[in-house]
Amino acid sequence: MASETDVIIIGAGASGLSAAKELTRHGLTYTMVEGSHRIGGRAYSEEIAPGEWFDLGCAYLVDGLANPFTPIADKLSITLGKDKSDLLEDKNISFQHNGVPLSEEQRAARVQFYGDSYKAMIDAAKRGQDVAISDMIDLDNEFAPPLLSDIAITWGMDIDQVSTADMAGPAASFGFPALNGYGNLVAAWGADVTVSLNTRVERIDWSGSGSHGMSVETSKGMIKGRTVLSTVSTGILASGDIAFTPVLPDWKMDAFHNLPMGTENKMGVYFDKDVFGTDGRGRYSIWNDDDQTAKVEASVMGLNVAVVFTGGRHGVWLEKQGQQAGHDFAVDRIAEIFGNGIRKHAKRSIITAWNTEPWTRGSWGCAMPGQTHQRANLERPVDARLFFAGEATFADAPGTCHGAYHSGIRAAQQIATQLNGGL
Ligand SMILES: Cc1cc2nc3c(=O)[nH]c(=O)nc-3n(C[C@H](O)[C@H](O)[C@H](O)COP(=O)(O)OP(=O)(O)OC[C@H]3O[C@@H](n4cnc5c(N)ncnc54)[C@H](O)[C@@H]3O)c2cc1C
Repeated sequence: MASETDVIIIGAGASGLSAAKELTRHGLTYTMVEGSHRIGGRAYSEEIAPGEWFDLGCAYLVDGLANPFTPIADKLSITLGKDKSDLLEDKNISFQHNGVPLSEEQRAARVQFYGDSYKAMIDAAKRGQDVAISDMIDLDNEFAPPLLSDIAITWGMDIDQVSTADMAGPAASFGFPALNGYGNLVAAWGADVTVSLNTRVERIDWSGSGSHGMSVETSKGMIKGRTVLSTVSTGILASGDIAFTPVLPDWKMDAFHNLPMGTENKMGVYFDKDVFGTDGRGRYSIWNDDDQTAKVEASVMGLNVAVVFTGGRHGVWLEKQGQQAGHDFAVDRIAEIFGNGIRKHAKRSIITAWNTEPWTRGSWGCAMPGQTHQRANLERPVDARLFFAGEATFADAPGTCHGAYHSGIRAAQQIATQLNGGL
């Protein structure tokens, strides 16, 4: 680990890795430190069965062809589910209430209600209202429960915590499923970046002057740099895990605290045979009168795996119940759709716990109602030497892997302009 460098990059997720590559293009040196034992951050795949991959974090190349990881995957000969994106579109989601699929009439009413609700949220944002989306939803509608559950999963926050302005950002399609793991794709692409792993940053001292006036204290010693680029989540920044000397200005601390981490958790369950059948593949949204709601994806990646999603307060609560409770919840939801016969074939599960994940402290940063402007403050450099990237800084695609990628490039370009006037 070089002790003196142009840029000290903190974090080896998609944003840190793209920044490192871009800095190299500009002829700048960097030292990248990563607290955990691996690169990729929230892009992380595990083998759920031999040769079958489950993404604990990102799994879809959102926006498909417009996503920078699509050409990267092509170049690395990594196969994407380019023909599967329509499985995830709203019109192809099967809705079930108390285990019963909706009738034709109910389906139409559900589509109408969802359409009206999203239109009300977007219209409010267009009028300049940055308020909780709960104000825009008819909570008495019979289809409010699945909508609330869908939002809690998609945003990681419940409706009183999601802002109209944040929600009305650029429309995105689900894009392409990464059949062999988005985490594996990011790891393969980032493999040429030099990283010091297991190196936790404890303090950033930006009080120094001179050419290498920035000091970063890590678990493996001190590094001096001309600039620092932090790519850690707002969960880490707000927690105080990294101390700043001197303390940061109030506007920056406000940004950390007003973009708190939402929680989405995924429960991947592997079956020892195809329990879904060809017609069963796809996405489900299910809700019961006992408040058990979830989204389920059956074999979208083409495997004998179903993924059950929870989010928001319910997701946090379930995570606290532990891994076995998560497994049981997931199998119960899958059985509601495919019958109790599936239970004996459920052989293994991977249950995520993003809310308590020590390297992120949540799934992604969400703007609280009235706080959408904080994304720009989060990204704004301090003292022209302390820079910030990461998914939450990228207002055009927050909470995504490609948003993180773009934020890293943008920060690296700002640094290059600062240090040597750009390319
Ligand atoms: C459940 C879930 C599902 C998702 N699904 C999708 C999806 O389908 N599509 C999509 O595009 N996006 C999805 N995302 C979001 C996407 O994964 C993230 O937005 C993206 O990976 C974040 O990248 P990043 O570089 O900003 O942050 P990170 O990946 O979090 O990278 C930051 C790095 O900093 C390190 N770090 C933290 N503290 C320290 C410290 N003190 N010292 C040193 N290093 C430290 C961390 O270990 C981490 O590696 C999902 C996320 C989750 C959790």
